[in-house]
Amino acid sequence: MWQVPTRVLMGPGPSDVHPRVLKALSTPLVGHLDPAFLALMNEVRDLLKQVFGTKNELTLAMSGTGSAGMETVFVNLIEPGDRVVIGVNGLFGQRMADVASRCGAEVIPVTAPWGEPIAPEAVEKALKQADGPVKAVAVVHAETSTGVWQPLADIGRLAHAHGALFIVDAVTSLGGVPVEVDKNGIDACYSGTQKCLSVPPGLAPVTFSPRAQEAIRTRKTKIQSWYFDLSMIQQYWGEERFYHHTAPISMIYALREGLQVLVDEGLENVYRRHLELGRRLQAALEDMGLVLHVAEAYRLPQLTTVRVPEGVDEAAIRRRLLEEFGIEIGGGLGELKGKVWRVGLMGYSCQMKNVVLFTSALRQLLA
Ligand code: PLP
Repeated sequence: MWQVPTRVLMGPGPSDVHPRVLKALSTPLVGHLDPAFLALMNEVRDLLKQVFGTKNELTLAMSGTGSAGMETVFVNLIEPGDRVVIGVNGLFGQRMADVASRCGAEVIPVTAPWGEPIAPEAVEKALKQADGPVKAVAVVHAETSTGVWQPLADIGRLAHAHGALFIVDAVTSLGGVPVEVDKNGIDACYSGTQKCLSVPPGLAPVTFSPRAQEAIRTRKTKIQSWYFDLSMIQQYWGEERFYHHTAPISMIYALREGLQVLVDEGLENVYRRHLELGRRLQAALEDMGLVLHVAEAYRLPQLTTVRVPEGVDEAAIRRRLLEEFGIEIGGGLGELKGKVWRVGLMGYSCQMKNVVLFTSALRQLLA
């Protein structure tokens, strides 16, 4: 019999899947055009609106992981020659810049060191110095490669003041900290299921404001991707129910349950749990004499980057955590490779018992 070991997933994602979600995954299939399934899709859309904090009608789950959400946003909104200001302070900002340039955009990067947020002043400068109108400003809300919690409201205001759309990557933030799409003036936002939603990887929730929808409607060029073309996909999620591609039915079951779990706990309680346990973990690490990579004001609760002490073999500690304690954490990426550990407390993994287990295991391994 095929078997995988039991792990405690405390890395940068995936997180532990909630037992209710695991159960939902074993629900027998119905057809993807079955009325019962279409009703479930409506439920998913309504639950996503609650969790995103939006009234946007164009809210749905794309088939694919978080990167599919990223591609969906850029291929639908960006046309060749469009200028896009992108905050690049980690791996996922870099990925957005790559995706936007593949759409033919003129990318104007606004950078910050890996571990610091993007400054609104730097965004403003880029908007003012651009050679012409800027189509969109994009930032990563929770930069999983660094642990930075990016403030959104000021950058959103600046984008709108310059007539640009505001795009936000909420892959690691959705369901962990408030995203508040409407309050923060976000025009297009995408996420993934495997982080704070405690659902396996495989769907990418997205939401588009009426302004963003208008930008899609008034495109001069055809959307280059067939699979991610929202003008067709929204006809499957909308009234028309036109077949586009076969929906990953079991994943929709899983997402529906994952979102319901959040709503049952209460979103405010969910955010409080992440904040409290994240801060406890961070305090415990500092008590051990370790240095956190991100300044307190910008530290995500659900993803903590902690610097590897001098003389310690970063990968060996991670391997021992996995082999001896069954705990998965992440290593550094890009500029932070070999320099930090990334410790997640996302969704169902965000529990006090995991904070205690991980900190005592790490203490033992570093002794
Ligand atoms: N954006 C952020 C902030 C992420 O953390 C990730 C994945 O870790 C992605 C995008 C890409 O998502 P995926 O790996 O699910 O394609």
